[in-house]
Amino acid sequence: MTGHPESPQRAAPNLYPLGLRLAGRRVLVVGGGAVATRRVPALLDAGADVLLVSPELTPALQAHVDAGRLHWVPRRFTPDDLDGAWLVQVAVDDPLAAAAVSAAAQERRIFCVRADDRRAATAWTPAVTRHGPVTVAVLGGGDPRRAVAARDAIRALFEERKGPFLTHPVEEGPPVNTPVGRVALVGAGPGDPELITVKGWRLLTEADVVVADRLVPGLLLDELRPDVELVDASKIPYGPSRAQEEINRILVDRARAGAFVVRLKGGDPYVFGRGGEELLACAAAGIPVTVVPGVTSSIAAPAVAGIPVTHRGVAHEFTVVSGHLAPDHPASLVNWAALAGLRGTLVVLMGLKNLAAIVGTLVAHGRPADTPAAVVQEGTTGSQRVLRSTLGRVAEEAGAAGLRPPAVVVVGDVVHALAD
Ligand code: SAH
Repeated sequence: MTGHPESPQRAAPNLYPLGLRLAGRRVLVVGGGAVATRRVPALLDAGADVLLVSPELTPALQAHVDAGRLHWVPRRFTPDDLDGAWLVQVAVDDPLAAAAVSAAAQERRIFCVRADDRRAATAWTPAVTRHGPVTVAVLGGGDPRRAVAARDAIRALFEERKGPFLTHPVEEGPPVNTPVGRVALVGAGPGDPELITVKGWRLLTEADVVVADRLVPGLLLDELRPDVELVDASKIPYGPSRAQEEINRILVDRARAGAFVVRLKGGDPYVFGRGGEELLACAAAGIPVTVVPGVTSSIAAPAVAGIPVTHRGVAHEFTVVSGHLAPDHPASLVNWAALAGLRGTLVVLMGLKNLAAIVGTLVAHGRPADTPAAVVQEGTTGSQRVLRSTLGRVAEEAGAAGLRPPAVVVVGDVVHALAD
């Protein structure tokens, strides 16, 4: 005897887990409040054809409607709304209304998720964590807190880069069995290893070869798998242009041999990072390339020093320039005289060496010498140093303080926007 179906001795039957391929398939969502707001994005992400039935909508759902991402029928549910649906999500508070939807779904044999009553539902939504192509879905046997706790533990494993599922690179892009690998140009962020993007970090954990710049946070490299080949691009023993050719050659050669190569670059790959040249070199060789933007030091270094590059009523623009060539250098592409006429924020990268000449040119062309200015050295790292000064004095004070690269110089009233 196994006992009465309702008795506690009877174990609940096991669930049958599935991954639903919803692309282009109708999913009915009944309700337009907080629950629907939370459920709809994952349905849209799966490509579902979402029909939402509800007299009212939250602003977030309204935004999906306005953008044409889902169809909204502004009234209460009627059973005909289920026509053509593969799945229904009930997201209404009123238990009678919810029961009417699940009864109609039951009659038509459409699986029904009920946020208000798990026992009345014919399908349960799991707690989910996504890591690129890998989706982990956890069902807690009817206890959502248990599911979330297990999910969080699994997510932590991914974040710590532990576990066998992280030791195999995941193929994406070119079909399996082709000898051609691929390259990702990944922005590593400004210095704090936590400021790499989630996608950049994931690709890093999947790489066979990592080609890293000098400004890349060392801790990110410290955590690479032992079998990953690490190429230190800053140690390539030629002048800058030969070194770039050599880097391009390494990217192409390793990818041709079938490797997944991550080209890890400080900040954002396209902000004074020569990422464009690397992309062109790979493209010319027929190697697929992905670009993963990064948090650029031009915004992040000021930010962590308490300087917003724009601030309401203070600056409506920010301009990022390279100061690696002095203003009078024949190869300079920067119109310093025009920059001197701007009121907004000026952020100079690679400008410490030429700082005296740069500020001299700005002042000579009309930017007031008492404009606030700051230097942020090694922003977002443990060695960060910040100097606040004025345009007229910043070069001398930076020299006296012994500030050195990498540093950004920020000019404009935003330097004091949060300080005063
Ligand atoms: N692609 C990078 C910039 C490369 S150029 C980015 O988007 O951040 C290198 C220059 O960036 C350095 O000379 C310095 O001016 C600036 N820089 C990079 N990291 C920095 C940091 N942590 N703090 C301050 N400046 C930084």
